[in-house]
Amino acid sequence: MKKIQKTEAEWKAQLNDLEFHVLRKSGTERPFTGQYNDHDALGTYLCNACKTPLFDSSNKYHSGCGWPAFWGELETANIVQKTDHSHGMNRIELLCSCCNSHLGHIFNDGPPPTGTRYCINSVCLEFVAKE
Ligand SMILES: [Zn+2]
Repeated sequence: MKKIQKTEAEWKAQLNDLEFHVLRKSGTERPFTGQYNDHDALGTYLCNACKTPLFDSSNKYHSGCGWPAFWGELETANIVQKTDHSHGMNRIELLCSCCNSHLGHIFNDGPPPTGTRYCINSVCLEFVAKE
């Protein structure tokens, strides 16, 4: 996959303040505020920074956690997992493998068949509806 590298100034010019804070500074949007938290349309979710396809709507479910949740990803090559010890917690951070933007975290309390919960910030996603 082609890697996208931009300077901080280039990302700031492309993203709004919240997108920059979450995607480029590993921030978190406030729960239950994101546009895709209660979003059930059929389609594909892309990385909002570089438009790499990350998730399919068929893998989305209602976790109740306040952020969009998925139990599986489209292509394992498109998402990188990284150990995250910030905020005194041991978590696994999810990053877009193309542009290295922060997406959210992954937990092992998801539904079948994977038991995995991809907890993703809405501002890190762009939704493209199925034709
Ligand atoms: Zn990306």
